[in-house]
Amino acid sequence: MPVVRDIKVRISPKDVLRRQARENPPPAVLEATQWAVARAYELIQPALAYNVLESKGVEGEELVLEGGIRLRLGKRADYAAPARRVLVAVATIGSHLEKEVHDLMSAGDSLKGYMLDCAGVVAVGQVQMHAREMAQQMADELGWGVGPGLYPGSPMGWPVQGQRDLIKLVPADEIGVTITSSAMLVPQKSSSVLIPLSPDYSAKTVGTLCHLCALKDSCWRRRERVYS
Ligand code: SF4
Repeated sequence: MPVVRDIKVRISPKDVLRRQARENPPPAVLEATQWAVARAYELIQPALAYNVLESKGVEGEELVLEGGIRLRLGKRADYAAPARRVLVAVATIGSHLEKEVHDLMSAGDSLKGYMLDCAGVVAVGQVQMHAREMAQQMADELGWGVGPGLYPGSPMGWPVQGQRDLIKLVPADEIGVTITSSAMLVPQKSSSVLIPLSPDYSAKTVGTLCHLCALKDSCWRRRERVYS
């Protein structure tokens, strides 16, 4: 099961500022953003642990994978029904950035802490984007398409506890990612995803389930087309 560390991450101040509701941030925010971007590059340790598994199809609410592995995706498991293979991945930027965010917040420097946290969100999103691009390339080489990115805790109703099953399918320990009793990934700036591949998907790029999400009208990612 492979690990990728050579991942190009680009953190632009514009992306970091996207979480701001204001159109014209004050100079102090712009200055903190510039600082946060530069500091984030020093702190992040991008890494991706992934695996590719054969899919046997969906039975009820479960996706059945090779070796008898069953993932309970929930009522909308049919999004994965066409899958012949799935790419499962855990992405992280390591723990250094979030430790510094914690230290800044504890010291009362909430603006720098917040902007550094935003830079971390952008960075881990880019590591996960690398997984999406890998899935797209694999599908392309097979002449297949890709389904939407599915993840525990997503609007499709796959409970966040599903991360327990997902994380076992990749060498998460090799990239320093563990899981808590409440199924949260540690470091927190980590994420997991399952991407279905099949000749029966027509899409060439990994889609989202944002249209199912209660936040779809207010979400900054969707508003700014980080996810469409
Ligand atoms: S609308 Fe936003 S929060 Fe909802 S699934 Fe899409 S990116 Fe995630």
